[in-house]
Amino acid sequence: MTTDSTLAIDGPRFWSTVMRSGQIGPGKAGGLRRLALTDADKEMRDLFITWCTETGCTVTVDRVGNIFARRPGSDEHLPPVLIGSHLDTQVAGGKYDGIVGVLAGLEVLRTLDDRRVRTKRPLELVCWTNEEGARFTPPMVASGTFAGVFDPDWVLRLRDDDGKVFGDELKRIGYDGKAAVGGRPIDAYFELHIEQGPILDRETVPVGIVTGGYAVRGMHVDVHGETAHAGPTPMDRRRNALVGASMLAVAVNEIGWTYHATEGKATVARLVAWPNKAGILSEYAQLTCDVRHAEREVAERMWAEVKAAMADCARRASVEMSVAGEWQFGSERFDPGCVRLVREAAKSLGVRHRDILSQAGHDAYYISRIAPTAMIFTPCRDGISHNEAEHAELDETVPGVNVLLHAALARANR
Ligand SMILES: [Zn+2]
Repeated sequence: MTTDSTLAIDGPRFWSTVMRSGQIGPGKAGGLRRLALTDADKEMRDLFITWCTETGCTVTVDRVGNIFARRPGSDEHLPPVLIGSHLDTQVAGGKYDGIVGVLAGLEVLRTLDDRRVRTKRPLELVCWTNEEGARFTPPMVASGTFAGVFDPDWVLRLRDDDGKVFGDELKRIGYDGKAAVGGRPIDAYFELHIEQGPILDRETVPVGIVTGGYAVRGMHVDVHGETAHAGPTPMDRRRNALVGASMLAVAVNEIGWTYHATEGKATVARLVAWPNKAGILSEYAQLTCDVRHAEREVAERMWAEVKAAMADCARRASVEMSVAGEWQFGSERFDPGCVRLVREAAKSLGVRHRDILSQAGHDAYYISRIAPTAMIFTPCRDGISHNEAEHAELDETVPGVNVLLHAALARANR
């Protein structure tokens, strides 16, 4: 690959878009609370489309609200190279997770415009809807739909915790697009994302070349017990769903500790109970848990232990437990050709880099099922993420964006 190392992004211009985004949907502690399909999400989407339109891109929105800004290539018959990530955040999220990736893509387009670079293949900048899954589960639902994993009509019927429907909310903010979801050829997909872990920050390496992800297995567990009076009901007659779910929560956490030495993780992130009132035992609870490990076989072993713990906790709490939904992702390996382009871009730009595995889920996982895909990680302070204290520095992020620029350019012109 021949790289014109004078072709570089405008760092301050890029960062000004990140800072502007950081004002939309403020959280309580300096971060963001910009849940999918809320008014704040609409405000950010509108601004994003304004920026894309200013570069001369044609913007389309598909039926699940994914936004595509297309920059024509010299051969419009060739499938496009996609660059993107997400603009929604967690309930208490940072200003960088996902956002840096989308706005890095915007900066790539602006840089190519500045230099009047025409690529052979079209470039498309994409913002995927509801990546976080913080409002509508599952996460990465719209990129998954684009990849054919989920049915669009099923997605449009999803409900949030308040019973609001995905399709209604999409319409309310004006992003119920007309374009079909996916089903068209994609040449390649590149996603830049903050690492959300401590490795790059600790080693002061600005670029992580993501070769793949941790294997993840997760599920919702329904727990059924029986309501009863908290006072007179003897201990041996109780079927408290909340207690069964709590036992499982602790057991899952213990499994995480068992695999701590090899960086295994086990998480219970959500627990709801009904009626969840003082003085009465719960007849229903639901918890959401997952396990993660770099090696698929180990993740499978952890998962088997979670399933065994489920049976054990159900027996000890005299409740019934059943799987209400199960998923797995992350054992995908990214495309060797695209990963090589990222590595070559880093080398020829003289950017320090290392290979890394992703421990979080990303839209790139689903897209890797339908198109050659690569990811670039940039550092975030202390690896803090999904927290309003999430922080990234311009100087540590710019090298990754330049690598993105040159890798995408090489792919689009090959
Ligand atoms: Zn993200």
